[in-house]
Amino acid sequence: MAQPSPPARYPVLIVEDDETIGRHLETGLHSNGYAPQWVRTGSSAVAEAARRPFAAVLLDLGLPDIDGIGVARTLRSRHADLLIIILTARSDDIDVVAGLDAGADDYLLKPFSLTVLLARLRAHLRRAHPVQDGSPAQFQLGDLTLDIAARRCHVRGGPDIDLRPKEFDLLAALARRQGEAISRETLMSEVWDENWFGPTKTLDVTMASLRRRLHDHGAAQPSTPRLPVITTLRGHGYRLEN
Ligand code: CA
Repeated sequence: MAQPSPPARYPVLIVEDDETIGRHLETGLHSNGYAPQWVRTGSSAVAEAARRPFAAVLLDLGLPDIDGIGVARTLRSRHADLLIIILTARSDDIDVVAGLDAGADDYLLKPFSLTVLLARLRAHLRRAHPVQDGSPAQFQLGDLTLDIAARRCHVRGGPDIDLRPKEFDLLAALARRQGEAISRETLMSEVWDENWFGPTKTLDVTMASLRRRLHDHGAAQPSTPRLPVITTLRGHGYRLEN
């Protein structure tokens, strides 16, 4: 059975050069069910946001390299749906207005209370990610956690398994019906295209590389994790055994 475990651990990017505030945010977010990543400069914020998706960015304005307003503008131009909350010690109205004009969704004045920050974050994320179809945002497959919302896949506490987009989608499609036989046609239409009638070699190739990545990741761990097994059903399709 699928084990829904809401809420998903939303990945949140912290952009803060102050060690005390950064650590406070990182610890606070982590212990409240988020997956924080902390960077200290504007350029590394832009680079990280390009490297993987975040649900939200907490952005300090006074950064050592690029001004926070400039970072907000760059992030907004590249990531239309990203939630950007400015954290600023500047109480001047003009900075707040500039931040919002640059594309930020909200702001908090420092010093801020973590409780208020978490409440704002929850409110924004609730609006941005309404529960749509009731399907769980996260699956626990043996020792493997598959987080659909964050598009992350990892063995408890370990690093993310680096899956290509279609490999991730394929694993998600199998996980949604774990224990059931799923036809090749169903997988093709769910993962590739609703109107797919062509050859299904691409499914075999993606399946092979997904299996290899899971296997290689498992083999590289110090204690062998329990990973889901994907069984081939001849003449039909596949079944994910949990
Ligand atoms: Ca600062």
